Formats: sequence, C-alpha cells, structure tokens
Amino acid sequence: MASVTLRPVSLNIEDPERPRRAKGELAHAVVDGPDGTHAVELSPVRAEALRLKLLHEESFWCSRQAGGCGGALVLAAGPIRVPYFRHHSGADCALAGDSARAARSYEHLHYQRALLAWLEAQGLSATTEHHLGPDGRADLHVIVHSRRHTIEVQLSPLGINEWRRRDEGYHRQVDHVTWLHGAGAETAAAAEQADRDHALHIRAGAGAGTAIEIGVVTNLTEVWSPLGECELRAEQFWTPHLEQALADLAAAREESAARAAEEAADEARREASRQAAARRRAADAKRETAARGAVPLASSDENDRYGTLPWWGEIHPELASWAPEQGWAWTDGLTEQGRAAARVVSYIVSRLYTSGPISMLLLPDETVGAEVVAALERAGFLRLYERRGVERWERT
Ligand SMILES: [Zn+2]
Repeated sequence: MASVTLRPVSLNIEDPERPRRAKGELAHAVVDGPDGTHAVELSPVRAEALRLKLLHEESFWCSRQAGGCGGALVLAAGPIRVPYFRHHSGADCALAGDSARAARSYEHLHYQRALLAWLEAQGLSATTEHHLGPDGRADLHVIVHSRRHTIEVQLSPLGINEWRRRDEGYHRQVDHVTWLHGAGAETAAAAEQADRDHALHIRAGAGAGTAIEIGVVTNLTEVWSPLGECELRAEQFWTPHLEQALADLAAAREESAARAAEEAADEARREASRQAAARRRAADAKRETAARGAVPLASSDENDRYGTLPWWGEIHPELASWAPEQGWAWTDGLTEQGRAAARVVSYIVSRLYTSGPISMLLLPDETVGAEVVAALERAGFLRLYERRGVERWERT
C-alpha cells in the first residue's frame, strides 16, 4: 500500500458530526461487494476520506443488504465540498435520492456485522432476519441456536403492547430473549425497563471507529460498555455493568423501604407522645376542676380512669372499711352497681366536701348517679337546691 503524507487541513464545517450533503450525496457504503455488510461512514474531514479511499483501493458499493442497488460508488473528496459517495450517472437506486434512509439502513448493517463478529469471537454462530419498521428502519433478529437465544435489535419505534406481544412470541420459541434498543425505540425500552427493572440499549460508539456500545439503563443509572467487553452467557446477555446496576437498584429499594419503615415508626412514636400529652392535659384539667370542688360528668377518653369507682378506691383505700353514721340500710333498694356507687358518693358528701354541683356526684363510669343522689337525700346525707341555673347539693 502506498504511504501518504497527510497535510494539515483547515476545517470550516458547522457541525462536523452531521455534515450537510446535497441530494444524491451519500455518507455510507460497503467495502465488501454488492451484497456486502461491511459498512463504512465517510468522515467529513477530507484527509480522513482520502485515507479511506486509499485503504479500500477505491472499491465501494451501494449494498443490496441496505436496500440499495448493488452498484459501485465513487468516493469524491475534492478540496471544497464535504466528502461524499455518489452513484455512477444513470443509476436507478432508492437510496440515491434519500440519504437519511440510507443512513438508517447502514446503521442497521453496521450493528448486524458487529454483532455477528462479536458472537463469532465467542465461538457462536448465528443467523439473522430483518424486519422493516414503520419508519423504514430495519430491525434485526439474531438467532443463536446453540444457546436458544435471540437478540432483537430494535431500531424503529415500537409501542408498548406490540413490544409485549413480540416479547411473548419470542419467549415461546427460545429460552432467552435480549432486546437491544436503539435511540428510536425509547417506548419499547421504557416498557421493558418497567417490567424487568432494566433495559439494554445499543448505539454506535463515539468517533469514526466501528465500536458499538451496549448500555445498561435502570431508574438510577445509565452505563455503557463496548460490545467487545460484553458476553452472551448461557443465561443472559452479560455486560460488565449489569450486575452492579441491578445490585445498586436493589440496595436503593431496600434503603428506601427501611427509610419508610423508620419514618412510620417515628410517626407512631410522635402520635403516642401526642396522645399521652393530651391525656395528661385532660387529667390536669380534671384535677383542677376537682380541686375547685367538682367532679366532671364523664370522660371522653376511655383510657382515662379519673373519677371512676376503681380510681376512688385507689386514692382513698380507707373507703373499703369506711361506713357512714347512717349505716348501709339506705342502699338496700339500689342495684348492685348503685350500692357500689353509693359507698363512694356517701364518702364524698360526708367526709370530703360540704357542697358543690350535682355533677360532681355523677361518677363517670356509672349510669345510676341520679338514683344514688335521690337515696342520699332520703337518707339525710344532703339537701338539693338550685342556684343560678345549676343544681347543687350541700351536706346536712
Ligand atoms: Zn444504489
């Protein structure tokens, strides 16, 4: 091969990644014959284009595998125009007038060739089928028979339901299905990520090289590796980042569940503390009321025993052996519950207080308060009267 000295070139291109080419000027070709799959993309840099021209001895074709005519292409890399491939005059070719369609087709060829080479390097052979997507993009179906595995390179847009339908269909035919989603297949990628926590993506590597990259995408991360570092293992399409990405996701979920449980426990503690404080305030308020000579009618808090029969028994243990001057004969007409209340209330009016509102004699856990008060009046413990609209009692 001739050696050439490349002169520095001055670049004056707005976007060197996506140079504008006129109608009929193509950026792609294959270098391995009319039915070739070895696609090359032309650099917008003239020196690079000239290097490619020398490297392949001016042999470029419009590949039938990409939907082209199979005709020879000429690489033009003059001093003014951005380098391009063109057909010989008079060629009748679908790709000749549609460089965008040509770019999509060659992207697919590029992936196909790289994947087959990658599998071959692992001692695996594969067959390929193409599907044409709605946008004219060719999707690739790679079947690795020895592994009962298919690799679906999804470049064209695919809806969620259609993705599920195809995924189930492939799973009926083989044991393992790997989807590699291109930039145009974001919807299918999102559906798979939702179902399986992760999705694998495929893209042409940065730069003019032929490297293809596989990305692992989860809710947390997006990590890319060169295809050459990935492996088609017996159970899965393995990438160097896959296990870590899934482990990170599991750890984040565990952490989030633990945090939620901790927050719930904190909230339960705060609520218990609020309730205890409320009970203390209620009890304080009742004690204050009682100190002014009144026992409240009833407690709204079931847990609060303040003023009940057991409570009186606890704070005045002498009640158990106490008896009034009148004896207990006056309680004979009362129910058992009424007699129990009468023991406490007669103690209150005989020993603790000399007067107060009737309400202080109605124990919160008793429904017989009115009968007990009437019996106390008949037995001569107290006298009932009214003052300023409040029914009151006073010791006799
Ligand atoms: Zn052609």
